[in-house]
Amino acid sequence: MNSEQTLTINEKKVSFTPGQTLLEVARENGIDIPTLCYLDRCEPTGSCRICLVEVKGARALVASCAMPAAPGMEVQTESEAVVKARRMVIELLLASGEHNCMTCEANGECKLQDLAYRYQVETIRFSRPMEYFPMESSNPLIIRDFSKCVLCGRCVQACNEIQVNLAISFGYRGARSKIVTKGDVPLEESDCVFCGECVGVCPVGALVEKKARYKGRPWEETKIKTTCSYCGVGCQVYLHVKDGQVLRVTGVEDGLPNLGSLCVKGKFGHEFIHSKERLTTPLIRQADGFRHATWDEALDYVAKRLKEIKEKDGPDSLAGLSSASVTNEENYLMQKLVRAGFGTNNVDHCARLCHASTVTGLATVFGSGAMTNSIAEIEDADVILVIGSNTTETHPVISTFVKRATLGKAKLIVADPRKITLTNFSEVWLRQRPGTDVALINGMINVILSEGLQDQAFIDDRTENFEDLKKAVAEYPPEKVEKITGVPAPDLIEAARIYAKAEKASILYAMGITQHTSGTDNVKALANLAMVTGNLGRPSTGVNPLRGQNNVQGACDMGALPNVYSGYQSVTDPAVKEKFEQAWGVSLPDQPGLTVVEITNAIDEGRIKGLYIMGENPLISDPDVNHVEQVLKKCEFLVVQDIFLTETARLADVVLPGTSFAEKEGTFTNTERRVSRVRQAVQPVGEARGDLEILNDLASRLGLSWTADTAEAVMAEIAALTPSYAGISYPRLEGNGLIWPCLDKDHPGTPILHVSQFTRGLGLFTPVEHREPAEPPSNDYPFTLTTGRILYQYHTGSMSRRCEPLDYLAPRCEVEINPADAAELSISDGDGVMVSSRRGEIVATARVTDIVPAKVIFIPFHYAEAAANRLTIAELDPVAKIPEFKVCAAKLEKVEEAETGEGEEAEASAQEA
Ligand code: SF4
Repeated sequence: MNSEQTLTINEKKVSFTPGQTLLEVARENGIDIPTLCYLDRCEPTGSCRICLVEVKGARALVASCAMPAAPGMEVQTESEAVVKARRMVIELLLASGEHNCMTCEANGECKLQDLAYRYQVETIRFSRPMEYFPMESSNPLIIRDFSKCVLCGRCVQACNEIQVNLAISFGYRGARSKIVTKGDVPLEESDCVFCGECVGVCPVGALVEKKARYKGRPWEETKIKTTCSYCGVGCQVYLHVKDGQVLRVTGVEDGLPNLGSLCVKGKFGHEFIHSKERLTTPLIRQADGFRHATWDEALDYVAKRLKEIKEKDGPDSLAGLSSASVTNEENYLMQKLVRAGFGTNNVDHCARLCHASTVTGLATVFGSGAMTNSIAEIEDADVILVIGSNTTETHPVISTFVKRATLGKAKLIVADPRKITLTNFSEVWLRQRPGTDVALINGMINVILSEGLQDQAFIDDRTENFEDLKKAVAEYPPEKVEKITGVPAPDLIEAARIYAKAEKASILYAMGITQHTSGTDNVKALANLAMVTGNLGRPSTGVNPLRGQNNVQGACDMGALPNVYSGYQSVTDPAVKEKFEQAWGVSLPDQPGLTVVEITNAIDEGRIKGLYIMGENPLISDPDVNHVEQVLKKCEFLVVQDIFLTETARLADVVLPGTSFAEKEGTFTNTERRVSRVRQAVQPVGEARGDLEILNDLASRLGLSWTADTAEAVMAEIAALTPSYAGISYPRLEGNGLIWPCLDKDHPGTPILHVSQFTRGLGLFTPVEHREPAEPPSNDYPFTLTTGRILYQYHTGSMSRRCEPLDYLAPRCEVEINPADAAELSISDGDGVMVSSRRGEIVATARVTDIVPAKVIFIPFHYAEAAANRLTIAELDPVAKIPEFKVCAAKLEKVEEAETGEGEEAEASAQEA
């Protein structure tokens, strides 16, 4: 029970809740107490003593950040004694380093300087000589200027308690005291992951962004709040703009879901916005290259060719690929254009390649396929099972919630073939053989049922088909599972017990689960596991797919899928079709269209002649890209709308320059279903035009009369036709956005799904059986190749590789090879290696590491010059049609030099542009 009590601050009576500190009570009541070391969300240290206050009856001044409020206290925050003490504190702080606040320009955001002015500290009576080199600026991201450091420790707390990267701490003693990395090496040689949290909290300008330094002072910059355009976490950011240029990015401190935290991409990955390689005019193919064209010429030509193909070969000879990187409004218009303008349901996007199996799997078991709970809830779980997700690299800010949870009471179970960073925080690590997840999860359910750990009441009240599940998992005792997965039976049993005994257990998974020919079954197995233990419909529980790209959830929600309109309304439902026909004023096709890989195959077979791609780069992202390349070259008419001349755009007949997230209005929907605003910060480059505008113009050339010509108007149309978005409007998205379903204009949104019943009513236990991956290793191809992302690059690299800080941190494609395999093949770290599969070969650089187990190699897929997808297999999950990116057979050989071909790629791009 929280009973309010009272105390007095500066003669004003205020109430407080037991447990609050004096600082919190003062702030809550609008009373300013200056702070320096105090950091929200961290344990107060009381080390800087700036927040000293006088408490009547106390023998000395007290640090208000650490002093618990007590009833009847009489507090003075600016008494003579307090001011005198603060002056002394400031003087002592100025002694550490080389400060003169009255002359220093710092970065214009120095709290110490503010305090020096506030308390008029003009002279420096003390000095503490520094016994180390004062400046570290060897990397292009962060400068550490130790001459300004006052050892307040905020950066240490931010690193260890907020981001939990554990990269820096206090080092040495006395005059040598310093903030150090492990071994006191430069940041780039340390465990630092350049999230920039330390830079954001440094109160004195000892930590600054190297590139933004001296470019603009805070009062010269305009701050525009928007949503990060990289991963599906959907962090809220400020773009700091001066003279039409984005100078730097900071997190929105009270913005959800990230509360001010960012990762290296969100913080330092913005240079692509102003890249010289941005497309600035439409291009039309001419002989072997392109010529510049006007917008009218390009759009007239596109419309003419699309109409000709449609008339000659029918509407299903056309297809469109929408994009997980553009806004909801643009995705909505793209699927509308394909359905209403082209006259076909052949529309899909790269969600097919990452989470199609989530949609099919969870829709079967629960009735809807999205993250069941919100990101913030993760931190309060008792147990977190992370399976098939290298969260620290793919969803870095979500990983901070997981790591913070483990600092408290939560136990973490990690199931992953690779020794990912989260294994350092885990209670149990299950290292399953790639492609054996169904056996692993069935094995956990087997243990739970045989030990009577299930939630029988939940099973009885909320689910159906339990007996069938019981029968199926009986075939997966731990010893048998050990043989299939390689996971020792005792570890499996321990993991099952930990998960089942938790009051609140949350499952997080990503593409390690979905990108298999058994992807749908993997997802169903996880849903079975959560239902067996009743871990659904409550806070901090659930089955939570972590979506990859910034707006992949939104692109799915908007119906950029061949079988559904926006809000997952089926194209085969006559009532739904009629609703959209009436709203759009056209007749619509009634059969589902083709998926991404099916579209490629249909072009190959001559059934599809015209393809319109908006913001996707299948030549890097699709499986078996050698085949994709041959096929796209055969496509009769290819249009690519993008911000760069990507590998795919180079094959196009017409290239239309779109805009980046910083140049447009709209919304993104993040992985937790939160719809957040995207706001224009700078003008489009050259003659580039907003994707929404391009689609609208093309629609009118195809004879469609659309009236919604702003992003806000398109959102109003979406809300009118999409029940789960019905209550969403731009005014309501101010603040922290809304989490769908949001059913009407007063609905608060729905952070937790399936609270009293599942979307389909009862949860359907769906037994699944282990199947081996499509292409096991063989004598000729003895390695299992698995692919994925790394922290410092993103997707097909078109944005991240155009940001110098990111490319500095991960400049080349590295193949992870286990030390035992490396020794056998005489490969050393840094050697050039050729990796080949039955579909192609690439040359990259060896990284010898025990992150991968023996006979498994890992390659990130971001690098065009060593495109991992030249090797992957286009074998599909039969239900979701997602390819098996995570397993194929490969061969490894040492080559004399890593021929990366980087230069050739860049040159080709320049010539063709
Ligand atoms: Fe952007 Fe994702 Fe990093 Fe957040 S975690 S800053 S959304 S890339």
